[in-house]
Amino acid sequence: MQDKEKNILIGGAWPYANNSLHVGHIAGLISGDIIARFNRQIGNNVLYVSGTDCHGTPITVRAKKENKTPKEIAESYHEEFKKCFEDMQFSYDLYTKTEDEYHEEEVKKLFKKMYDNGYIYEKKDLQPYCEKCKKFVADREVKLICPSCGNETKGDMCDCGYEPKDEDLLNATCIECGNKVVAKENMNLYLALGKLQKDIEQYVENKKSNWRISSQNESEKYLKQGLPEKAVTRNLEWGIDIPLNGFEDKKMYVWIEAVLGYVTACKKICEERGLNWEDYWKNDKDNYIYMVHGKDNITFHTIILPALLLSIDENYRLPDGMVATQYLNINEEKISKSKGNGITIRYMLDNYNSDMIRYYLTSNGPERKDSNFSLEEFVAICNAEIVNKYGNLINRTLKFKGLDKVPDGKMNEEIKQKIQNAYNEVENAIKKLEFRKATSIIKDLVEDGNKFYEEKQPWKEQKENIEEFNNTIYTCCNLVANLSNLYEPFMPTSSRKVREFLNLPKATWDYIEVEKNMNLDGIEPLFERIK
Ligand SMILES: [Zn+2]
Ligand SMILES: [Zn+2]
Repeated sequence: MQDKEKNILIGGAWPYANNSLHVGHIAGLISGDIIARFNRQIGNNVLYVSGTDCHGTPITVRAKKENKTPKEIAESYHEEFKKCFEDMQFSYDLYTKTEDEYHEEEVKKLFKKMYDNGYIYEKKDLQPYCEKCKKFVADREVKLICPSCGNETKGDMCDCGYEPKDEDLLNATCIECGNKVVAKENMNLYLALGKLQKDIEQYVENKKSNWRISSQNESEKYLKQGLPEKAVTRNLEWGIDIPLNGFEDKKMYVWIEAVLGYVTACKKICEERGLNWEDYWKNDKDNYIYMVHGKDNITFHTIILPALLLSIDENYRLPDGMVATQYLNINEEKISKSKGNGITIRYMLDNYNSDMIRYYLTSNGPERKDSNFSLEEFVAICNAEIVNKYGNLINRTLKFKGLDKVPDGKMNEEIKQKIQNAYNEVENAIKKLEFRKATSIIKDLVEDGNKFYEEKQPWKEQKENIEEFNNTIYTCCNLVANLSNLYEPFMPTSSRKVREFLNLPKATWDYIEVEKNMNLDGIEPLFERIK
């Protein structure tokens, strides 16, 4: 668990540029923004980076279909992603892309180091080659009859789950021209993952207590099978060049360059800001590293990335906290492209408040098991928990009839204690990656505030006992101020507005009191009931 470290690096998974972002993506990635905002609040130095994954065959295939260049496809999705993250108030320090000159140049240097260190080696393979198209064809550029189910399938994976083996691929036909492929010798580069088996086992053993259980299980399962050798080059025109002679017709596999984006993005933003990137990425720098991703991406972060960092052999710190999420289903069904049941985040943003979307995707997040998304439930929860409870507490306090400034009252000790407890408990929950629990603790505090308000009946106190009235409203003003701190990682837009109402300079993580007698004007409702 993160303790007293000062330099916090958070890597959010890089979405792949061949489809729009849906609510499931955000349900996974939002954890990164929660951790980033929380750590800034407690005074840590935070770098939160991510970017668009732009290379690889799915994009070239899509480009061909749409009669565009891969670059056009990648760039248009990159712009779309960027706008979505901005509108969702993701506080990335840098959101870049793998199709970025800085990334490409830095990755080439890292690749060269791995080669020089003996972790990348040359090997001749027999690979499917189309003599008519005059090229080596990738798995998904061939079709074959699946030996398992008898249906026609592409070479990467059959719908029945069968993964075609090398000998199947050598008997396939080229998708483009229909010619039967031939087996041809091809020189490729491989990563010697096996050499790192012991080191990675040690690493997983040392750090797994910081991980969610799914990350632990997946990683141990993967290690048990023995780390495979993995090709790092492929014949493709779209991607990053290989910085070695004799591989001019090849590019890097996406899996090796995209995960290194966490390193290159951190370096890039540090250069821009005059910071030392090693304070975040090297050992013994009072630092802590989080990786945030979905469950389909676990071993890329728990095994592959650490293996790459070890093979660069420059004292890199290996990631500490693994924040893997399960799947978000839509109306009890898995999100699937073929069913077309995914709800895009753009659709949500065009229709609903971003704080509400963040709140629902967090309080109902797929942390330990798959969770379900339905619009009906989204509306019901936002109305019940945000509009009727939190929004109402803010309104009935700050817009109390006849009140134009914060009263000169006394803070209720019991409520103060509850607020202080909430800071501790929410901090603990966030550090343990239990974000659902964190929102539920704050929700309880809101509930306590509303109960306090109703018991005190300030509308009566105002007429009968002005001193008591002042105490009640002053206490509620302080409660609202502290709730804006507690909710900042989860609902930053409304928190910022509360700070504006109450003249609070910035979000902090300590019990605060508002200035007595300050004017309360320009207060507007923060949440509208959803119909
Ligand atoms: Zn062909
Ligand atoms: Zn099959």
